[in-house]
Amino acid sequence: MKEKEKGLRYTHAVDPDVAEMYAKGNCKLCQGRGLVRIEHNFGDPIRNDSQVAVKADYCQCVHKAAKKYG
Ligand SMILES: [Zn+2]
Repeated sequence: MKEKEKGLRYTHAVDPDVAEMYAKGNCKLCQGRGLVRIEHNFGDPIRNDSQVAVKADYCQCVHKAAKKYG
């Protein structure tokens, strides 16, 4: 556990342990896991070279809890 860190940093990497720690157990969005899947479309759909990048991000309930407990 990284105890020195304050709140959450908005980086590309998410920490599942942190997410679970802050997650609301009955959250409808993440089912208490604290993580949600986000899909990014990039590239050019017209030229048919679009790509989808899937990454995980902290759920809203995690952001809320992180602000509260900082
Ligand atoms: Zn949630």
